[in-house]
Amino acid sequence: MKLKNHRIEGIPFLPARLTGGTITPEIVILHDTAGRLDKFNSRDYLARTTKASVHFVIERDGTVSQLVPTNRRAGHAGQSSYHGRPDCNAFSIGIEIVNPGRMTRGAGGSVLAWWGQDFGPGGQIGGYGLADLETPEHGRGTWMAYAPEQIEAVEALLLALFATIPSLRDITTHWYVSPGRKVDVNPLFPLEAIRARVLGRDDPALQAANAGSTPEAPGAFVQVEAAAGLNLRSWPSFNPNVITSIPGGTRLPVNRQGSFSGRQWLNVTYSGRDGWIVAAYTQPIPPSA
Ligand SMILES: [Zn+2]
Repeated sequence: MKLKNHRIEGIPFLPARLTGGTITPEIVILHDTAGRLDKFNSRDYLARTTKASVHFVIERDGTVSQLVPTNRRAGHAGQSSYHGRPDCNAFSIGIEIVNPGRMTRGAGGSVLAWWGQDFGPGGQIGGYGLADLETPEHGRGTWMAYAPEQIEAVEALLLALFATIPSLRDITTHWYVSPGRKVDVNPLFPLEAIRARVLGRDDPALQAANAGSTPEAPGAFVQVEAAAGLNLRSWPSFNPNVITSIPGGTRLPVNRQGSFSGRQWLNVTYSGRDGWIVAAYTQPIPPSA
């Protein structure tokens, strides 16, 4: 795949009715269509509706269509925030992958999509690779595996986008930027493998955290003041990234400190793990204490 003049060459382009002004894309947000699997069903809807739109749609057989140029705003993320920055549609490219979304188990081995279609019994028999899974971000559900052709198409598309658009720096999901409101992509999506192949091994969120903070002097300690405990996070942001909860009263060595999205954060070590906590819920411990 090759991007030229904000369009992938050689794929269908259906201009979406909801196409906004010029943007500089910095992240890619992955979605599920949460709709029927029939080829072009969701794509054609997203092209003609004025309620939503997206840059790319990937069918079950791996066919990719484009609906919005990569330098124009599409309406795919809604209320959202990426590392403290709201309105992700203003700086992201959206990719919709055809998938029914969360399904529920019914009587007689049925597996029901939200519109009532039954993908059972057994799921595996139909070749859909259904799985019952629960994660903190998705909750509980029955989910359909993505077709290998879809995963290959996502990766090829991402490689073409990142090779041509120098402002792009991260790949994320709708559940990550709209936590508690959205659950796509589903838990079966190989997000970390795709991120590693497209972005390389270094996590851009960790790189940004290190670049935006300074090392603390050796021997600096804080005590957790929040009685109910304080979340240790992978990065200095409130996106879903909690490693564990640190009990109130715990004393912690401070490794780094920095200001992110107007809030002071500390990098600390707890139970052998390094992570980030909000400084406001701690008290510094004087060196003599
Ligand atoms: Zn979505």
